[in-house]
Amino acid sequence: MQTNKIAYLQAMGIQTWQLKHAIETTDDSSGWDNLRLSVESCTACALSKGRTQTVFGVGAKDAEVMVIGEAPGFYEDQKGEPFVGQAGQLLTAMLAAIGLTREQVFITNVLKCRTPDNRDPHPEEISQCTPFLEQQIALIKPKVLLALGKIPAHYLLKETAPMSALRGQIHHYQNIPLIVTYHPAYLLRMPKEKKKAFEDLLSINRLLKTIPN
Ligand code: URA
Repeated sequence: MQTNKIAYLQAMGIQTWQLKHAIETTDDSSGWDNLRLSVESCTACALSKGRTQTVFGVGAKDAEVMVIGEAPGFYEDQKGEPFVGQAGQLLTAMLAAIGLTREQVFITNVLKCRTPDNRDPHPEEISQCTPFLEQQIALIKPKVLLALGKIPAHYLLKETAPMSALRGQIHHYQNIPLIVTYHPAYLLRMPKEKKKAFEDLLSINRLLKTIPN
């Protein structure tokens, strides 16, 4: 199904099975723009009614490291860019600590729309929205995934272990190494844990050195 037709159906509030199929079958050259358009026009769940705009993600389309958060907050919804609030500033500093800029990585979220009062995403919102994330991962083909907090970690790993069990090891999502660390918003509340997060991030650098181009 053509992208403009999908966008039209979504704008009309009509859900079709072809949407997921179309997203899954886009090729790399046109896939990115089509995917962006599909996200922008998505009305698959009620979060679309409360958003200022969707938050697709930002960074390099060929990033080696893909950073995945939870959902846009107030400032992200206003700006259309992930991690631009206080937690975002900390994320930028965390990346800089391992020699990476925001432009070098790709930053996105499990959900592309803000949740009311920044509540945790509901399971049905996650299942409606994550075909977008899956397609982003398929197109970017990162060498390493970084999950910020338990929402992205639980989704990608299909398990519900606590953060204490998820940190400190190398997981895999579809053969891509996956590191789990604390969400920067948690680190703002619990600054003592920043050292552990830094250790998690260092394992990204170690992994990158071992994975060929
Ligand atoms: N928290 C997230 O998980 N994502 C954002 O984009 C901003 C804050």
